This record gives sequence, structure tokens and C-alpha cells, in this order.
Amino acid sequence: MAKFHFRYGAMNAGKSTILLQTAYNYEEKGKKIVLLKSSIDTKGDEKIVSRIGLERKVDYLIYNDDSILSKLGNSIYNIDCILVDEAQFLKRKQVDELFYITKKYNVPVIAFGLRTDFKTNGFEGSIRLLELADELLEMPTICKCGKKARFNARKINNKFTFEGDSIVIDNKTEIKYESLCGSCYINEFEK
Ligand SMILES: [Zn+2]
Repeated sequence: MAKFHFRYGAMNAGKSTILLQTAYNYEEKGKKIVLLKSSIDTKGDEKIVSRIGLERKVDYLIYNDDSILSKLGNSIYNIDCILVDEAQFLKRKQVDELFYITKKYNVPVIAFGLRTDFKTNGFEGSIRLLELADELLEMPTICKCGKKARFNARKINNKFTFEGDSIVIDNKTEIKYESLCGSCYINEFEK
């Protein structure tokens, strides 16, 4: 029976690179994959680009009100694997649909995403993924101190900030993120 995978990590853990590598491996064997990307605004980027330069077009952008099953339609019968980028932005019911797809149609789903936002709270999609996934895999990245980074700290004008909305759609504010371990996160928070 097909499995439902959630591969999670902080920002810059190389999730997109692994996703694109996985897509490549499937297609090299003549398998059909479908690439989904959850999008928080209507100007969603239809490409996935990894930091090392790999890129691939997204098959379907998934918006808040979308039904993944409706989007896939009858193509569901010809898919060997579904890959999902930015899975933290999925709605709870969309994660339920992916779980349904693995069990009802026997199609494996590999979702990649962040576990928590910059305030250490789980995203709606991530929480449901952690609840339903058959296989969880943490993708580590390294904190500036050398320990494993699990948290995403937000930086505005190069200064750590711990207030604001979890998702910022406004493109005018320049927001950066730094992956930190728990100790460094708390140190920055208490500064
Ligand atoms: Zn650290």
C-alpha cells in the first residue's frame, strides 16, 4: 500500500533540491509524477527552483479553496507519485485529501514543507501532515552555532523580529529567515 510521507525541515534545508532530485529519479525510470505546490497568493510561482540551480515547472498550483482530487481528475489513475512543495501552506482538508489518495488510489505522496513558522507555531498543513503521515523524515540544516537548526527566525532589515503575521504576502517588506537551533532562537528572542 502506498505511503504518505512528510519530509520537513527549517528553511534552507535543501527541500526543493531533494524534491527535484526525487522527481528526476522517478522520471528517469519512465514513471509519471505530478508536482503540486501550495500557494498563498494568486501570483503563485509556477516553477520550483532549488538553490543549486535545478528547476522544474509545477503541474498544479494549489490555492486555499482548491480540491486536489478535483484538480487531478481522472489523471489520478496514471500517476506513480505525487510530490508537494510548500506543503505547510495546505489547508487541513487538502492534507486529508492527499492521505485519501495514498490509501484509496494507492499513489504515494511525498510532501515537503516547514514544520513551524517564525514564532515556532505549526502551520495548519504541517500539523495535519504530522498527524497523518506514515513516514516522517526530518531534513536537518545547521545553525550558526553548529547545532541542528529546527526553527525559522524572521529578520527584517537584518534584525530578528518575533512579531507579525505567520504568512506575509506583501512583497514590499524585505523579509529574510535564518534557521536556528532552539538555544540560539531563545537567545535571540531574549535579547
Ligand atoms: Zn544555535
